[in-house]
Amino acid sequence: MQFIDLGAQYAGIQDEVEEAVIRVLRSGQYILGPEVTKLEERLAEYAGVNHCVACASGTDALVMALMAKGVGRGDAVFTTPFTFVATAEAIVTVGATPVFVDVDPTTYNMDPSALRRAIEALDQASSGNHPLPRVDDGLSVGDLKPRGIIAVDLFGLAADYGAINAIAAERDLFVIEDAAQSFGATVGNRRAGGLAEIGCTSFFPAKPLGCYGDGGALFTDDAELDALFRSIRVHGQGSDKYENVRIGITGRLDAIQAAILNVKMGVFDEELVQRQRVAETYDRLIGEAGIDLVTPFIPEGNRSAWAQYSVLARDGAERQKIQSGLAEAGIPTMIYYPKALHLQTAFEGLGYSHGDFPVSEALGERIFSLPMHPYLGDEKIADIVAALARAAR
Ligand SMILES: *Cc1c(COP(=O)(O)O)cnc(C)c1O
Repeated sequence: MQFIDLGAQYAGIQDEVEEAVIRVLRSGQYILGPEVTKLEERLAEYAGVNHCVACASGTDALVMALMAKGVGRGDAVFTTPFTFVATAEAIVTVGATPVFVDVDPTTYNMDPSALRRAIEALDQASSGNHPLPRVDDGLSVGDLKPRGIIAVDLFGLAADYGAINAIAAERDLFVIEDAAQSFGATVGNRRAGGLAEIGCTSFFPAKPLGCYGDGGALFTDDAELDALFRSIRVHGQGSDKYENVRIGITGRLDAIQAAILNVKMGVFDEELVQRQRVAETYDRLIGEAGIDLVTPFIPEGNRSAWAQYSVLARDGAERQKIQSGLAEAGIPTMIYYPKALHLQTAFEGLGYSHGDFPVSEALGERIFSLPMHPYLGDEKIADIVAALARAAR
């Protein structure tokens, strides 16, 4: 059994994908071009925003968003420590300082009340009610200027943008939605990618909408930001290719990846339906079997894109026992994420310590993810849950 079965998806779209790739190979247009433009138009419409700019990865999308906002040294950007490393890495890449905010224990997404505490703590340059980072290079934490927020839609569930956007508006902060795991998710009649001023997503193969290499995209309603993203994507170019008006990056998307994504968009909605079926079947069977696990909580009005189906074991020892039992039955599981970012060596310069973000730390000890993909049949799910029941006994 596979954790994510990309082969099953490929079998269903093989002819179309191969034709699309050959079409690009024969076209001689390998970077940007008509396939990328077509993709951008489709994705903007899908996300319900005015502009989409395709780029080379989800990480580049985050970096480009921060560059477009002019974020750099001395700026503070609030984000959570319970996410894939790229979210906080992008902040450090542009020279700014991540200020971590713990997650909600039920959704695993940014806790808006903790965000308020973090903003107040920074205002007062005091860690009394919220742990703050250490800042080097001649700056002190009181010099940090709060600039914006990167909220993450973890495992495919949108963060609480109603609350987060309201807090941001009070303080004139920007909000970036890290929708790398949530493209396709909905909140009411709005779609992930379009829930904040800027949305960023990833087309890494294992994401809900994946290509066959690296890729990403930015979303916005703001025409000025759209123009900035397009300039930054190509080394800060101006109106002419060899006029450089700002510092940018090599952030372009390949035409081959765009062509593949244009084919995959044709099956994406059906795949979301199938992911929802898998999640509901897990919920039901785990409940019926009375297994002592916390299954995902999806707040009213939300629909997850189900990048992952993650559950909580009672404690670390129980998780270890269940994962070993499943591995013996040939069922792969993964841990997203075992170590919160504030405890990672890469961020040790921020001076955080154990206990600073207790919810993220406890999740790291208890959480694990079960196989999740649109082609996981009900019988296989029943086998997985039966093995879970045996392992959890
Ligand atoms: C995957 C991911 C990214 C980075 O995307 P890449 O395309 O791999 O660069 C950023 N944030 C989150 C939450 C992710 O899951």
